[in-house]
Amino acid sequence: MQYLPTKIIFGKGVVESGFDLFKQYGKKALIVTGRNSSKKNGSLEDIIKALDKNKITYSVFDEVESNPSVETVQRGGGLAIKEKADFIIGVGGGSPLDAAKVIALLTKNKANDENFFQTEWKEDPLPMIAVPTTAGTGSEVTPYAILTNPGIESKSSIVSEKIFPAVAFLDASYTQTLLREITLNTALDALSHSVEGFLSTRASDFTNLTALESIRILGEIFPFFLESKDIPFQMREKLLYASLLGGMVIAQTGTTALHAMGYSLTYFKNIDHGRANGLLMAEYLDFLKSRKVNQVDLALKTFGVATIQEFKAFFEHLLGVKEKITEKESLYYAKITLKTRNMNFTLKTMGEKELSEIYLNSLK
Ligand code: NAP
Ligand code: FE
Repeated sequence: MQYLPTKIIFGKGVVESGFDLFKQYGKKALIVTGRNSSKKNGSLEDIIKALDKNKITYSVFDEVESNPSVETVQRGGGLAIKEKADFIIGVGGGSPLDAAKVIALLTKNKANDENFFQTEWKEDPLPMIAVPTTAGTGSEVTPYAILTNPGIESKSSIVSEKIFPAVAFLDASYTQTLLREITLNTALDALSHSVEGFLSTRASDFTNLTALESIRILGEIFPFFLESKDIPFQMREKLLYASLLGGMVIAQTGTTALHAMGYSLTYFKNIDHGRANGLLMAEYLDFLKSRKVNQVDLALKTFGVATIQEFKAFFEHLLGVKEKITEKESLYYAKITLKTRNMNFTLKTMGEKELSEIYLNSLK
């Protein structure tokens, strides 16, 4: 089964031209965003103009940090209730988008900090509109919200069909202010989604078609990151499109061991989400290839490299100086990874030894 209930509107100026759409969600909005970037890249201004045109009043919650915490979304949820919001608008990278999804849930469902990740989200959340300003997470079309979870020393996903955004406005203009580093890291996340979705126990013909198209586009763009030129708008649009496709893929397949491993690098070493996946990707693919997963070759060929060695060499170049990890850390992270549901979607059985080796070979 495939399910994707989000209205997707893609192109330059879509928030302005599609302003009419906002009014069907109510008279009062809560805008959920990060601390700075949406004020600088034009996205917040465009949203406010669209709301003004519809005579929709709004409040702004601009406190979402990267890898958001339960405390932050609880605060946002409290504000949404206090302000009597009819709908939520998430604008920014994956972090504000995910926070907005949970804030929408919290307006209708009670959750304690202590058992937050065990909460049953029975009631429908407020409708949520997503405006991504990074090109990587695909959160605008997924039923997931990922929060930091100190209880398991990692990150946990809230998974519910109820949190698919109602509308996603995708305008690559907003991504033009992204520094090269965040552009690359988020592109690595998009690639990771499409590669993992392609190599998932839940892959289907539909997701494979989507995943391969996303990998192909990213394969065309990635060599550009080796040059230190500005990234032109057309390339930004392609990145946003490839990221959207990656989101459509994982909305159906979920992610696999690779993402779960990456969460430990973010939790313990503060490595950006996309970079964490990128650092581990080549060794993860090499592992699957060594276990005779033939689809790895098609993924590599579609990306534009002939062999896993070529992929590894390209990634060495792309990632620059890598973070380091000890054997003890790798075993600890492996134990945490093994407890995640992502392991069920991974094509080959992996134990502590295999996971630890991938960590160590990637970060030596
Ligand atoms: P992010 O944490 O949302 O943002 C990273 C940084 O980029 C922030 O400093 C942000 O600044 C800045 N930024 C955002 N847009 C910008 C722009 N247009 N120009 C300049 N700077 C900009 O990063 P992300 O990689 O997009 O999201 C990562 C999160 O998404 C992780 O928590 C990850 O687990 C989650 N994720 C979710 C899904 C899903 O399906 N739900 C999938 C993959 C990943 P400000 O703080 O000032 O805005
Ligand atoms: Fe991701």
